[in-house]
Amino acid sequence: MKIKAVYPGSFDPITNGHIYIAERAAKIFDEVIVSILINERKQGAFTVEERCEMARESLAHIKNIKVDSFNGLLVDYVKQCNAGVIIRGLRAMSDFEYEFQMALMNRQLATDIETFFIVTDPKYSYVSSSSVREIFHFGGTVKDVVPETVFEKLRERYSACIK
Ligand code: ADP
Repeated sequence: MKIKAVYPGSFDPITNGHIYIAERAAKIFDEVIVSILINERKQGAFTVEERCEMARESLAHIKNIKVDSFNGLLVDYVKQCNAGVIIRGLRAMSDFEYEFQMALMNRQLATDIETFFIVTDPKYSYVSSSSVREIFHFGGTVKDVVPETVFEKLRERYSACIK
């Protein structure tokens, strides 16, 4: 039986930390769908289309990964995809509290869907999309923590401060 997993998130933008989790998940599961949440209540730094495009380009080297977007309840989307697993990444204990609560909530909503946590590489433990945007905006170097395609998009967006 083929096992499909969904790796959901904002990916605003995708970072090397996200890619690390996606690569590890792709070695474990037959198919991984990296799916970008369309959040109507929160305007992102990049549009969902831009985020999907950056994710597609950055993950093109992994054959069993697809990129998609979704809105509404995550568990409904996971069922629609015929997937049985939700992938989440853990950077630190501070992530755990929130992730644990989400996992319990999702289990309450759909008992047959498992949440699967993958621990990050220590070198990405401090990397988040928001810190990448902030550091870039103020002229700091982010080249080591985002793929080339994201770096170019950040450069277009915040062209005043190029590093
Ligand atoms: P969300 O808004 O759902 O937290 P994110 O795009 O910030 O979306 O993160 C998606 C998932 O990837 C979350 O499980 C998050 O903990 C994980 N993640 C984010 N950055 C990293 C990183 N540097 N290393 C490992 N996992 C990460």
